[in-house]
Amino acid sequence: MVLSENMQKLVAGNSAIRKMFELGQELAAKVGKDNVYDFSLGNPASPVPEEVKEKAIAILNEKNPNYVHGYMANAGFPEVREKVAAYLNKKHGMSYDKNDIIMTVGAAGGLNDVLRALLNPGDEVLTFAPFFTEYRSYAGNFGGKLVIVPPDTEHFQLDIEKAWPLITEKTKALIINNPNNPSGSLYTKETIEKLGAMLEKKEKEVGHPIYVICDEPYRELVYDGAEVPYIPAIIRNAVFLYSFSKTISLPGERIGYLALSKDVDEYPDLIQALTIANRTLGYVNAPSLFQLIVGDCLDLEANLPFYDKNRKLLYKSLTDIGFTCVKPEGAFYMLVKAPDGDAAHFAAAAEKLNIIIVPCDGFGLPGYVRLAYCVAYDMIERSLPAFKKLYEETK
Ligand code: PLP
Repeated sequence: MVLSENMQKLVAGNSAIRKMFELGQELAAKVGKDNVYDFSLGNPASPVPEEVKEKAIAILNEKNPNYVHGYMANAGFPEVREKVAAYLNKKHGMSYDKNDIIMTVGAAGGLNDVLRALLNPGDEVLTFAPFFTEYRSYAGNFGGKLVIVPPDTEHFQLDIEKAWPLITEKTKALIINNPNNPSGSLYTKETIEKLGAMLEKKEKEVGHPIYVICDEPYRELVYDGAEVPYIPAIIRNAVFLYSFSKTISLPGERIGYLALSKDVDEYPDLIQALTIANRTLGYVNAPSLFQLIVGDCLDLEANLPFYDKNRKLLYKSLTDIGFTCVKPEGAFYMLVKAPDGDAAHFAAAAEKLNIIIVPCDGFGLPGYVRLAYCVAYDMIERSLPAFKKLYEETK
């Protein structure tokens, strides 16, 4: 076998989401695109804001091409980082400057930067189920182990009591994804404060910092006027990660940023390591043209009405049919309980009706499937008779 042992593990655990997405593509080729109801991937269907194209054209017309497309500091263009710092300071009352900001290759790039900077083989990273499946691979990239706090299936909040005994000397970091993929739940300020108090005690016990990695590509996608707490304003040892993939529909462009406050323990070493990780992981720097574009698009709002309309239709229709669903408060995913408790069996029955949904076993939540509703509204409408049939067949 030519593959490294580490890679063999990653290949064996290849993403269920990607598999379902590929299945949807195959099915569409067979039965026609309009007859497949693909809820597999978090690929936003809301149109990319017109401003993105306008800024791109202006930058390409007005700036020196060798500047736009050239190498720059590994952390990114200083003027873009300055704009990000000012934006976060205004929005969250922080005091970042450009040296605290690193432009990243999406949230995934940011997560890998942080884990590269922190992990020795055998180190542990804690996360709460349900969680984004790729965390396991990202920790595994550096020989780290993802330790999973069992899900709170009553409220889908962070179960801090269950987390307590799982944090040990080996724990380097904890990943919090708010609002959450796949549950759509939103962790409140009170919950984050409770988490912060617990971590402060644990840091004293283990004798080293435990960093909270705030993975927040969905933070602008919250409904009913709810607010997402800004974790670094509550927990000191926090690294904030943002991405433009979801909120302004740019997942293929691979653009985001990380922010690290100077108050964080071991800041000078950490910020330097994160910058070097950006380079040595082979990204070198985040995509240059899109750094400049997003630097001018920080105030753009997510298309909340688009997703909220889908959320309301899907939740109401599926609960009316008889399914048990978890009402999403944020992001664009909804959990549905498998009627017989077997998510793989339920997803296979759905597939026979051309509905593509993802079993949540890989998200640490057996017995549920995830529906990504960042799709066209009319696809949800067209899918409803198939969901009715699915309910009759599986109830
Ligand atoms: N984190 C979570 C929770 C996600 O759902 C995703 C993508 O689906 C990512 C990170 C990766 O996002 P990006 O495209 O910014 O790398």
